[in-house]
Amino acid sequence: MSKIAAYHTDSLEYPPSHRNVYHDHDNCPAGKQIKQWHRKPGQDGRPRCDDCKKLG
Ligand SMILES: [Zn+2]
Repeated sequence: MSKIAAYHTDSLEYPPSHRNVYHDHDNCPAGKQIKQWHRKPGQDGRPRCDDCKKLG
């Protein structure tokens, strides 16, 4: 469990709760559902994912 570089996704495959935020933790349950090829680097001005906040 550790922090990783921020990423987000634009893919409509994911619900807004996953898509409208950015993730930065490798153990985030929502982030883990985002496939590698759907991930884009950076925060893109989005708020941080709640699960990533809890994980630290
Ligand atoms: Zn997350």
